[in-house]
Amino acid sequence: MQQYEFDTVILGGGPAGFSAGLYAARGAVSTAIIDTNMLGGQPSNYLELENYPGFLKVGGYDLMEKFEEHADMFGVQKFPMQEIEEINLVSNPKVIKTKEGEFKAKTVIVATGAKPMKLGVPGEQEFVGRGVSYCAVCDGAFYKDKVVAVVGGGNSAVEEAMYLTKFASKVYVIHRRNELRADKIVQERAFKNEKLEFIWDSVVKEIKGSDLVSSAILENVKTNEVTELAINGIFPYIGITPNVEGFNGQIEQDSRGFILTDETMKTSVDGVFAVGDVRVTPLRQVITAASDGAIGAVYAVKYVETLKEIPVRS
Ligand code: NAP
Repeated sequence: MQQYEFDTVILGGGPAGFSAGLYAARGAVSTAIIDTNMLGGQPSNYLELENYPGFLKVGGYDLMEKFEEHADMFGVQKFPMQEIEEINLVSNPKVIKTKEGEFKAKTVIVATGAKPMKLGVPGEQEFVGRGVSYCAVCDGAFYKDKVVAVVGGGNSAVEEAMYLTKFASKVYVIHRRNELRADKIVQERAFKNEKLEFIWDSVVKEIKGSDLVSSAILENVKTNEVTELAINGIFPYIGITPNVEGFNGQIEQDSRGFILTDETMKTSVDGVFAVGDVRVTPLRQVITAASDGAIGAVYAVKYVETLKEIPVRS
């Protein structure tokens, strides 16, 4: 088995990971990015971004290519498509075993991201980017004067539904109960918003369309009545879940599995930092992930420096 040794290993090659790679490598520590997938992370699937400063409009894939090129410029080594066998973040050095080899690292920066929870209904996967979106901030502006639906009754669903009313002519909120989970203050604001219409006690059974989404099939869970709702877009907001497979429980996490950090991105384990969507953070965007990556890497480099032996004066 191939053996590798790095000062810093970054788990995850999305915006947080690339940014961390760039900053770590510029800090003159040997740096590798390991990903279980192709590099680029979630933004690679975004059609277009209009909110990354400096780029008025940019394809998600194109932006991530730029991030990668930038990390390459400073010699970050990349290991995409790795099949993880074991991750030990607690040991020193940290050890990541994949089918390809064993990676030893003085520090690990966890940048594995999160994934939206899926409805798991027919049409959902098929229409991603063509009417199904998990990011109102990214895609809302594409629905100017259109009719959209948000699924869920938590803070995210209700707040994002209100955000979408800036663009859409009508926003349905489809919730499986007849009471929202969202905070009362959020509910009060939502109930005053005339563009919002709540569809209670209902679940989405199917998303339909041809090129683009044109309707959703709903079922009332109390009456079992099935109806078809004409919509141009649908935003499931039924919660997100962090990608912590392989090291779940090794670091301090919140009740939903997100990693707790301090403002330097340090986790509860010495030498382990967490950046981007995988950590407990109030905003999950490319810009905030990139910012986290920079902070985490700077402090990871400082950590590596503290491990260097202090030369003995003769
Ligand atoms: P959440 O609070 O877990 O709410 C998820 C919602 O989706 C719930 O209403 C749930 O229904 C519904 N749901 C779950 N699985 C479903 C399924 N399979 N089909 C249909 N509906 C489903 O998630 P969140 O809204 O993403 O918020 C997560 C956390 O972040 C919460 O603690 C929230 O308070 C916090 N947050 C805070 C803010 C803020 O303070 N500004 C903003 C966003 C999020 P039930 O209600 O029936 O369970």
